[in-house]
Amino acid sequence: MKIFFRLTSLVKPYFWWMALAALIGFATTGSGIGLLMTSAYIIAKAALQPPIAALQLGIAGVRFFGFARGVLRYAERLISHNITFKILSKLRLWFYDAIEPLAPARLMHFKSGDLLQRIVDDIQSLENIYTRVLGPPLTAMLVAALMWFLLGIYSMQAALLILLFHLLAGIAVPFLSKQLSRGLSVGIMNHKTAQQILALDFFQGIGELQVYGKLPEHLDLMRSAENSKLLLQRQNALIEGMHESLTGILMNGAVIAILWSLIPAVSTGGINGISLAVITLAVIASFEPFLPLPAAIKHLEADTHAGERLFEILDAKPETFAPSTPISFPVNHDIKVEKLSFTYPGSHSKALDNISFSVRAGQHIALVGPSGAGKSTITSLFMRFWNSSEGQITLGSVNISLLDPEELRRNISLVSQRTYLFAETIRENLLLAKPDASDEELKKALSAAGLNHFTSKLDEWTGQHGMKLSGGERQRIAIARILLQNAPIVILDEATANLDGLTEKEVTDTLNTITAGKTLITITHRLKAMEGYNNILVLDKGMITETGLHHELMEKNGLYKRMWNLQHERASL
Ligand code: ADP
Repeated sequence: MKIFFRLTSLVKPYFWWMALAALIGFATTGSGIGLLMTSAYIIAKAALQPPIAALQLGIAGVRFFGFARGVLRYAERLISHNITFKILSKLRLWFYDAIEPLAPARLMHFKSGDLLQRIVDDIQSLENIYTRVLGPPLTAMLVAALMWFLLGIYSMQAALLILLFHLLAGIAVPFLSKQLSRGLSVGIMNHKTAQQILALDFFQGIGELQVYGKLPEHLDLMRSAENSKLLLQRQNALIEGMHESLTGILMNGAVIAILWSLIPAVSTGGINGISLAVITLAVIASFEPFLPLPAAIKHLEADTHAGERLFEILDAKPETFAPSTPISFPVNHDIKVEKLSFTYPGSHSKALDNISFSVRAGQHIALVGPSGAGKSTITSLFMRFWNSSEGQITLGSVNISLLDPEELRRNISLVSQRTYLFAETIRENLLLAKPDASDEELKKALSAAGLNHFTSKLDEWTGQHGMKLSGGERQRIAIARILLQNAPIVILDEATANLDGLTEKEVTDTLNTITAGKTLITITHRLKAMEGYNNILVLDKGMITETGLHHELMEKNGLYKRMWNLQHERASL
């Protein structure tokens, strides 16, 4: 229930629109009832062969209600869909705003298929919160009140009878339907999530599945997830059919009961025959708004589950917060790392253990060491994806936790091993680094990055994940992004590790040219062209074990020299 109230508080800003839609929904059903009542009146009255003038009122009524029903239905749909789209866009913006600060630290526990399901389907299911969950009971209640009042004019007993049948159709049938379909909506949603996860794994890992012969097994899993979902959907359809029949039975029961209660009054002259026909058809029409109620309860269950899944993400506290009054980005870009330690949540060992070093603005340093030494963790802490457990990083003697994380990231260009390209054009992928860049600037950056042949292809699609580009071209796009972003600090995290020897040399040369004058931190486990660095830090098991220039480290006979010898012996084989 708490979740439901949290969800309704999200749609509160549209309260008056929803009230108007419910009122128009009620007027629409009321017109339907009026149409049947006036039709019954004409038919019953005409059977007594009165002069045509006596039917004029009825005919005008049929025209009026028939016309009003169409117009009102249109207005009701227009308003309720408008509310739905407003809710949808609000929910999506609200979700994206909330999820962004959680990346990457808080989102790494979620599978991407699961996240996609939450962002797309869960929000989609919540868009119906008015049209399917809140709207129908409101309309049904208003129609029940109208009928109670109408029948009350003729007989209190008939009014109580219609109330009883409406309560059965409005409370007992939906409740029964809920009991029978308990867990079905949630089950269907869970199967959909499982399907989404399997489908994403299928598309992303199809190569591996093929190579290891696991494709048939994976397809079987996808098939069985589909079958389990279909089974639940079939049960759901059966229950839906059942509640429609039950509402139909109740409607007929109400007609019989009311006729039974009113017929004696016809013989005593308390009510005339024509009114009896009119009332009978009104009773039939009044059950229409009760038909969607069992579905409303099921949607309520699905929406509460969707809300629960969304709030699970949204209630997660971001790892890093922007300070309420951030200090503006310092002019001095000297970096100082002091006694920095960090342990990943759930891990027993420290990824970084009491690290200290400094980089003067404009210096080029290298962080080297075997895989798992903690090199990338330093980047994550510097970019404020995570907060250090102990120690601090300062920039121009300002602790980076006092800066606005977005501004900090804008001032650091980070190139990783595999540059992510969006399934967009070259232009869009470059504009990420400088949204207001002109075509001339984009072309200049491409040329400087060694992608002259792309300057005439700004609008060419890069393919899914940039598949249409080679590894070298993707890294060169990253170089073009560095040029456009023009940040004073550049971090290259194994930026050339995936490239073949020749391309690696070319890309490294371009990187050296464009980072001249900037602060450069190169993270690498491959020791190449190390003579050019102002300082080299050797990291092992989260600790700095050696520091110095290339030739100094080579004299030390430590890990650095061992790594160097190993790599260069291998290269000479
Ligand atoms: P390197 O960049 O030197 O290869 P990392 O900084 O990526 O090393 O990793 C340092 C240690 O932290 C490793 O033991 C690694 O397994 C662990 N680690 C890295 N990322 C995570 C994470 N998100 N959650 C838990 N442990 C992690």
